[in-house]
Amino acid sequence: MSHFDIIIIGTGAGGGTLAYKLAPTGKKILLLERGDYIPRERDNWSTQAVFLDAKYKAKETWLDKNDKAFHPGIHYCVGGNTKVYGAALLRMRERDFQEVRHHGGISPAWPISYQDLEPFYTEAEKLYHVHGERGIDPTEPPASEPYAYGPLPHEPRIQELYEDMRSLGLRPFPLPIGARIGNGKPGAAPAILDRFDGFPDPSEAKADSHVIAVKPALQYPNVTLLTGSYVERLNTNAAGNAVTEVVVTKDGETTTYRSDIVVVACGAINSAALLLRSANGRHSNGLANGSDMVGRNYMAHNNSALLAISRKPNPTLFGKTIGLNDFYYGSDDFEFPLGHIQMLGKSDQLMYKEDAPGFAPGLALDYVARHSLDFWLTSEDLPDPNNRVMPGNNGQLKLHYTENNLEGHRRLQKKLRWILENAGCETHLLPNNLYLGKKIPVAGTAHQCGTVRFGNDPKTSALDSFCRAHEVQNLYVVDGSFFPSSSAVNPGLTIIAQALRVGEHLKTEVP
Ligand SMILES: Cc1cc2nc3c(=O)[nH]c(=O)nc-3n(C[C@H](O)[C@H](O)[C@H](O)COP(=O)(O)OP(=O)(O)OC[C@H]3O[C@@H](n4cnc5c(N)ncnc54)[C@H](O)[C@@H]3O)c2cc1C
Repeated sequence: MSHFDIIIIGTGAGGGTLAYKLAPTGKKILLLERGDYIPRERDNWSTQAVFLDAKYKAKETWLDKNDKAFHPGIHYCVGGNTKVYGAALLRMRERDFQEVRHHGGISPAWPISYQDLEPFYTEAEKLYHVHGERGIDPTEPPASEPYAYGPLPHEPRIQELYEDMRSLGLRPFPLPIGARIGNGKPGAAPAILDRFDGFPDPSEAKADSHVIAVKPALQYPNVTLLTGSYVERLNTNAAGNAVTEVVVTKDGETTTYRSDIVVVACGAINSAALLLRSANGRHSNGLANGSDMVGRNYMAHNNSALLAISRKPNPTLFGKTIGLNDFYYGSDDFEFPLGHIQMLGKSDQLMYKEDAPGFAPGLALDYVARHSLDFWLTSEDLPDPNNRVMPGNNGQLKLHYTENNLEGHRRLQKKLRWILENAGCETHLLPNNLYLGKKIPVAGTAHQCGTVRFGNDPKTSALDSFCRAHEVQNLYVVDGSFFPSSSAVNPGLTIIAQALRVGEHLKTEVP
């Protein structure tokens, strides 16, 4: 049985980044990843392969709360979901760390403050090549340094929209994006970003955790990665206070590994599932689950994609350069938070082949595609203990989720429509059927978080503020699981920053 200093299970935003941080320590590190490398191939940028054939998505189905099977939007590969993410890397707002009153209830406080995470946000932004500009987003939290990389330029149609928004008195800002471009070296060809959000990037310009973190970590001889290695369960010692064995299936064979420290970083849904199926005599309710919080409080945001169909063509290649937070905390007519708006990557006609005819009758799909402006709206969903990950029958996972706190999200959708109709776009927009909108359903697990929440009280949380299990001294969970609330910005940068914080803690505090 092989013995390691640290085993990290999962190579996404949390696990990959932690491996990067710990690699220089010389500790013997094993990275276990159930998926494989996504090949760099033409299909990476094919809408047919990526969106319609779901070539890179996990091949499993889960059950919803009514036991209806669905195909989750989740990716098992080196780099995890960051391989296909949009790399919009925003800090949570300072107030998101505190208790916030919403229309639908209370968003609870975190056990750490924004200031605790601030140095690691800065480190994360540098590591993931985040391009942005401070001082424009009105809700931006204080930062100790400017962005190391300036904002990505808007393409002309997006610049026009940006100006239209400003003419309405709004304060759009350059969306912070993690991309390895523009190194300015003599002789370097310019990088043109195009397919990005939702697609793997064979050019490796997108700053995902495979390219940014796992690859450099593997340069160290003390770091080993095993792909195709599914962690079945974790076993503990007789006292139940330490993980002693990591049981892995690879190519149909079971192998057991030992390690001083075990880090679960499987993503919020799969980390909870792993702990739950690791129940034993000492942990009858699931590993580290004396609080009964493991698997509960699943959140994934109230997200919508909205397309506005303009008279003006939108020949943009990379549209993901505007963010808007004017309604983050509320609006003149609503005292509760609404949320965040950002551009999506430019859509094409294949992406809405199924939805468009109903929404935009009479419009040819290629017209819709050539004229659409693409938006992504995110509002906070609230932790509800009944929204939970449960082991279903025959090993099939069950995701019991009921939407909540929807009023702010509805109002955010209305605000965007109002903006588009009033911000100088009115002559550009078609008079009817302007919008093709879609609230993301339960299968949209992209922003999953909250299932193994951290906190100071072992009765109401499973992890301490450094993501160590209250009940199991050598067990950490370092991915989106730890969030006690979801805020209304994309989760990636916060997962990465906390992974760097936990890594620093393990380097300096744990022998
Ligand atoms: C299409 C899309 C677009 C997105 N866009 C953005 C964006 O613009 N900005 C942003 O901040 N976020 C975005 N996200 C979300 C972001 O990708 C996730 O928040 C982030 O990747 C989560 O990190 P994680 O470490 O929690 O899990 P993941 O990145 O999902 O990593 C978990 C890893 O664990 C592995 N694993 C799971 N179970 C096991 C097991 N039992 N044994 C071994 N390995 C296992 C998985 O294969 C995976 O590699 C997007 C997500 C998607 C899907």
